[in-house]
Amino acid sequence: ATPTAVMVGTGVAATNGILIKGADALERAHSLKVIVFDKTGTLTKGTPSVVDLQLFTPGLYPLDETLHLAAAAEAGSEHPLGRAVLGYARSQLCLDADLDMDASATDVSWIRPARDAETVPGKGIKGWVASNSNAPAGPAPGKLASEGQAAGGLQREVRVLVGNKALMAQEGVQVPREVTSWIYERETQGATCVLVAVASSVAAALAITDPLKPEAVGVVAALRGLGLQCYMVTGDNWTTARVIADKLGILNVMAEVQPDGKAEQVKLLQATHRGGGVAMVGDGVNDSPALAQADVGIAIGSGTDIAVEAADYVLMRSDLEDVLTAIDLSKKTFRRIW
Ligand code: ADP
Ligand code: MG
Repeated sequence: ATPTAVMVGTGVAATNGILIKGADALERAHSLKVIVFDKTGTLTKGTPSVVDLQLFTPGLYPLDETLHLAAAAEAGSEHPLGRAVLGYARSQLCLDADLDMDASATDVSWIRPARDAETVPGKGIKGWVASNSNAPAGPAPGKLASEGQAAGGLQREVRVLVGNKALMAQEGVQVPREVTSWIYERETQGATCVLVAVASSVAAALAITDPLKPEAVGVVAALRGLGLQCYMVTGDNWTTARVIADKLGILNVMAEVQPDGKAEQVKLLQATHRGGGVAMVGDGVNDSPALAQADVGIAIGSGTDIAVEAADYVLMRSDLEDVLTAIDLSKKTFRRIW
């Protein structure tokens, strides 16, 4: 293509809110074979919310106390699932408070803060929280707390974990069959579940859903129509991932990928499709190495700065239709249709 054609292509892209970082980037999108989508925030809206909750030890940890403990652990979390748990707890516990719901999205003053909260990448979060419950502090559930602790109304600290089964396994928390089947039922409906463990036993599970972007189905169909293979990559569990992919007509799924594993998956695809032609679309911090590794990295404009920096393309309108527009522009420019 002539420099003029490239200028025109880049300019037309810009009027569509598509930022292209250089002529090379524009060219590489004309011969794509594979396109990998991150799930959360890319194919889904990235606004997860809690849709179901089940208590498993209501006698020890009733609803309010359990929500409080979970929210305390997630108070400092920037993970969308953490924000969802926090938002749900706030809406349930602060109903009477004169809180402006929007302004209070990041207001955690109503929470007894967790001590030493620690994120476990790809798994969840853990911390120590003062408990109002007289339930034993563990580690052995069922063992009575010492008199002085329980009777005096003294607040004891309990270990709180919020996360997936892998977190529970890592921390030595047994997940009863009753819990597993509750989770599986929701996962087969496309929900992502997180467990709340207090003092080494599962107190509750929450089901969280994130709506699909309305244009996602059509975009995947159009890409497949162009002969591209579509993949979805996610840190989420296999069951939920497959259900979401099915809804979108995506046949190839890579789930339970560790936060640093997405770039590796892109590399593998590049190796199997010799000559490159692998695009990655993503929005998150943990997508940026994959965006950089891909032959064409496409960042969602509303995503994190670090993803936007790593990408070759930025979709300022955060509309997946613009993936099609970008590919179309590249093809037109490099086949000299105009
Ligand atoms: P993704 O970017 O695809 O959501 P992550 O690696 O961020 O993948 O998360 C993978 C899984 O780890 C989540 O589906 C969830 O089960 C668990 N997880 C991560 N962070 C948290 C958190 N703050 N609270 C609860 N669960 C979490
Ligand atoms: Mg994402």
